[in-house]
Amino acid sequence: MVNLTATLSTLITANHILHYHNVLDAMGHVSVRNPNNNATFFIALQQGPATVSGLPDIGEYLIADGSPVNGTVGGYAERYIHSEILKRYGDVNAVVHSHAEDILPYTVLNIVSVESMYHMAGFLGTNLPNFDIETVYTKDDPRDMLVNTPRLGAALATTFGINTTQPTSPLHTTVLQRGHGFVAVGASIEQVVDYAYYATSNARVQTKALLLAGAVGGGVKYLSERERGDCRNMNAWIVFKPWGQWVWEVERSGRYVNELGTPVLTG
Ligand SMILES: [Zn+2]
Repeated sequence: MVNLTATLSTLITANHILHYHNVLDAMGHVSVRNPNNNATFFIALQQGPATVSGLPDIGEYLIADGSPVNGTVGGYAERYIHSEILKRYGDVNAVVHSHAEDILPYTVLNIVSVESMYHMAGFLGTNLPNFDIETVYTKDDPRDMLVNTPRLGAALATTFGINTTQPTSPLHTTVLQRGHGFVAVGASIEQVVDYAYYATSNARVQTKALLLAGAVGGGVKYLSERERGDCRNMNAWIVFKPWGQWVWEVERSGRYVNELGTPVLTG
């Protein structure tokens, strides 16, 4: 049995890291599959990521349908993003959903999408999907852009595609959501925090590069497909390094509380 306190301590600190670096504001969330029970996952309750500090702030939900279990009451309306992705991809153990402003412009542009600008963001791959919820609305669905039903969550999960050589893994690590934000998935909390952080960083770099190119003329050279793949492999083994620093930063910032203590690196 995995030490659940260690997993949930990591989840709490992940909330703080993503808030500290403006990946999450008052909205957005990070989840983790229960390492001791493949049928459930953990995610904070209906509160801002910066305020998540202890066990009473975390809910447990069924992956099958997102319903609360083990005394959990209520929770995020969009937890179906997490339940449906964890259901569809057995190799995914952690999910981040974000409304980061740095990413949002790329969700509404028709002629340019997110591209890998530098080596830490090779995991973005090629042809990053942009989930347009309008394409899956039924006549009576409210148009509030929220992925707040299992059906909408399943449609978003499908957008990640299937890795044909490893069908329990998605083809993509990241999917944009038109007019809403993005979702990143990973094998561990540490990896998905790394992906969400560098996806957001990469968008800032891309915006600056495109603006500079427009100002001075000329184009932008993105990472090649092979560079993206090799950089993704590099990112996978180096994740411990940024994670260690991010934990160090939030613990000394004086802005957050983690009643479960300093996380032990698990991923
Ligand atoms: Zn959202």
